[in-house]
Amino acid sequence: MTGGSRLPTDARPDDGCQNGGWRRGACPSLATPMQTGDGLLARLTPRDGDLSMAQLAALAEAAARHGNGLIEITMRGAVQIRGLTTASAEALAMDAAASGVMARQGLAVDVNALAGVDPLERCDPRPLAARIAGAVNGSALAPLLGPKVSVTVDSGGQFGLSALKADIRLLAVDASRWAMMLSLATGTRRAFRGDETAIASAALDMLAAIAALGPDARMRDVAAEIADGVCAGLVPVDPVPAQPAIIPVGIFPTVHGPAIGLTPPFGATDSVALRQLAAAFPQAPVRFAPERGLLLMGLDAAAQTRLRQIADDLGFIRRADDLRLRISVCAGAPLCASAAVATRPLAADLARDHRATLDAAVAPGQQLHVSGCGKRCGAPSRNVTPLDMPVGAAVVTGVFASHPHAERDRALTLETASAHLSQLSRVLHILGARHTRGDAPDPTPDALKNRP
Ligand code: SF4
Repeated sequence: MTGGSRLPTDARPDDGCQNGGWRRGACPSLATPMQTGDGLLARLTPRDGDLSMAQLAALAEAAARHGNGLIEITMRGAVQIRGLTTASAEALAMDAAASGVMARQGLAVDVNALAGVDPLERCDPRPLAARIAGAVNGSALAPLLGPKVSVTVDSGGQFGLSALKADIRLLAVDASRWAMMLSLATGTRRAFRGDETAIASAALDMLAAIAALGPDARMRDVAAEIADGVCAGLVPVDPVPAQPAIIPVGIFPTVHGPAIGLTPPFGATDSVALRQLAAAFPQAPVRFAPERGLLLMGLDAAAQTRLRQIADDLGFIRRADDLRLRISVCAGAPLCASAAVATRPLAADLARDHRATLDAAVAPGQQLHVSGCGKRCGAPSRNVTPLDMPVGAAVVTGVFASHPHAERDRALTLETASAHLSQLSRVLHILGARHTRGDAPDPTPDALKNRP
């Protein structure tokens, strides 16, 4: 059995930068943590992809020593550590560096989670990514680009990147040619093909074109004529349709043997769970993956069996049919000062105690999003059915589904779908009252564990 299941691309949240209620347009990092309701939050993407288990354990230990021990994996496969102060954030960065965990800095250039070891990828995307990042970082262009400008370098394979938002999307056509896809002003889309050198050069020119429009500019602000001019030396081609995102749970082949994918429930685990995982499998290199994934590699059959039990004990999700995958949450109380409800414990109760209601109202591939206030951080951005429900005196939970129920299941009448949603509304009302701020339990994995 291989792993992964697909979610609709239009069910993806905007990006991880919203989750937690911070200023839109700014992204926290290890060097520049962001204020949230529970202190500073630092985000890091390992620069070199692989971490050893010793490094993962050191990072988890540092998260407990300097923060509140809660560790999140974002939709883009970055790690978030919370509950920091200005001083402890600096100490965290020093501890991470001392253990050899180097955080990516500068322009965000994302490659596939299994880059370089995926037997299904068309080429290794890392040299092209390094070429682009190396040319930008430290150059005069770098400070002119907005903090959310990003590039994906997608080799295809099992963890394609087309569901990730990016200003410039590069997709391997074969071992030596790439396509560059751009979503421009007024919704115009363009795609061009070229060899690695030509594509790298055009990508850098496109980044310069974005920067020329100001510090808040994105690719969507660039006029089609400008893009056509920049890409005049490339071959125009049809844009490649986006593929649905892969949920990184299950078994994924690599050239070194299978990788086992897990996700923490509702995107969050803690220092204790990660250290126990690292202690149980000290030889397994790990990578983070989009859709909040943790990929363990180099495990033999016996270790894979052991991992299933340990993952269950630690509350990780390892199966695509786990109902917790149908719920997304914002940070919620007590992590966000604006939150009226503790979103993660509420979601955990819903998945554990109201399985039939959740299963009936939210189909596989759909997402119910629970927000602690009306801002709806991290909610799916398009093709949603807004089901905002006030769930308590001063409590608002934003609930979304990715598609109308009648669309996803033609056998389901609108009347039946409506009945399912009414029942879900009643359940949310009860859970919302239970998890209002003040009554909110600590949203650590102990409170989130439940299994299908
Ligand atoms: S409580 Fe509101 S502001 Fe805070 S993370 Fe949730 S949606 Fe965003």
